[in-house]
Amino acid sequence: MKPIIGLEIHVQLNTDTKLFCSCTTQAKKPNSACCPVCLGMPGSKPVLNKLALDYGLRLALALKCKIAKQAIFSRKTYFYPDMSKNYQITQYEIPLGFDGYLEVNGKKIRIKRIHLEEDPASLIHKGSIVLIDYNRSGIPLVEIVTQPDLNSASEARDFLKKLVTVLNYLGVYDENKCVVKTDANISLEGHARVEIKNISGFKEIENALAYEIERQKHLLKEGQEVTRETRGWDADKGVTFFQRSKELEEEYGYIVDTDLVPIGLSKDLLAKVKEQIPELAHEKVERFIKQYKIKRDDAEALASELLLADLFEKVAKEINPILAARWLRIELVRVLHYNEIDLHKLEIDEAHLIELLKLVESKQITEPTAKRLLEMLIEKPFSPKEYVEKHGLKMISSSQEIEKLCKEAIEANPKAVEDYKAGNEKALHFIAGYVMKLTKGKAKPQEVYKILDRLLKG
Ligand code: ZN
Ligand code: MN
Repeated sequence: MKPIIGLEIHVQLNTDTKLFCSCTTQAKKPNSACCPVCLGMPGSKPVLNKLALDYGLRLALALKCKIAKQAIFSRKTYFYPDMSKNYQITQYEIPLGFDGYLEVNGKKIRIKRIHLEEDPASLIHKGSIVLIDYNRSGIPLVEIVTQPDLNSASEARDFLKKLVTVLNYLGVYDENKCVVKTDANISLEGHARVEIKNISGFKEIENALAYEIERQKHLLKEGQEVTRETRGWDADKGVTFFQRSKELEEEYGYIVDTDLVPIGLSKDLLAKVKEQIPELAHEKVERFIKQYKIKRDDAEALASELLLADLFEKVAKEINPILAARWLRIELVRVLHYNEIDLHKLEIDEAHLIELLKLVESKQITEPTAKRLLEMLIEKPFSPKEYVEKHGLKMISSSQEIEKLCKEAIEANPKAVEDYKAGNEKALHFIAGYVMKLTKGKAKPQEVYKILDRLLKG
């Protein structure tokens, strides 16, 4: 049975002020950023945040959507303390963008609609009481709704990752400040659909969907039916749980919000927004392959992080791009991961990085030496060139010198030599290691093995 999955993703747009008033989006103290508009006082009048509209359009265009002729807002009526005016301002009848797509692993995932809406307040449950923080009410969100084109939990995760890369590139979202929350609709082909609400994070999406697919399969296997309902996701327990039987969209009694004038989305305006769309990740991948002749794998890994892609281009101007791609994609990422440093917090002087890789490129230092220096560069800035000279770390390239050390190693390890001659290949690694220790990692391992092999077989 094929799982059929559609996602509704709410992304907080990175604006300084709220969607319909000038309250800040960055307030810390609860209920300190509220006004008559975002508190829903009678008679208050909302005014649309122009930047949020621009951001929404930017995203809709980047996802190849058709764009509405006018931005029109509606009231989605419901009664709950998180929205004190008893309706949420959203877009219903005509979304900002529709009929777009995002390609993930070579498959087009269709985007049904993209629209702007305000976030409700946050409810904080403390024992038997509920606290409300209206700082969140009115925060600008963009909601992205896909068609049910996803067929597995991992595909949903990949889609979300790709979407966040697009959001980052567009500069409409800041992953340190903004929240992404996903609702997932999931069914097994031919059976009822279940909605899972409010999942945050890539891993959580995958876990929640994987769990729900299994739950539904199990029900059917037991001869029961899946019922149409809304479920929550308990990340700690790793299970979905029943919340309510599903309401229909029509039950919200949408009505156009006459406080907000329809805003014409002219060709001129769209042309201006288009100018603000930078080269996107998948376009970068194709250009990197063509311009720098690097492998697709490397290009994709570099382009998935805008910071890494920019760093690569700066380095590739100075040194062989294939070498640069390998070092940035594998070694730099490894060192960051090992030291638990976030790429976004990386403070590395490009000039130093270029200097280091030039030493590798010109074979003045060995790769193990370079890796050690890279680890040090992440910690604090220094000139690798000066450091190498000061500490005598230049590669030993003279075969005679290496041969001398190999002979020393052979003499010092008669037992290992004997083992090797008796057919124990591992003994050779031991002797080679001894040589590397003598050279302090300054000889090329391949060279050491070659000479040892010649000396021992001779
Ligand atoms: Zn306000
Ligand atoms: Mn929504």
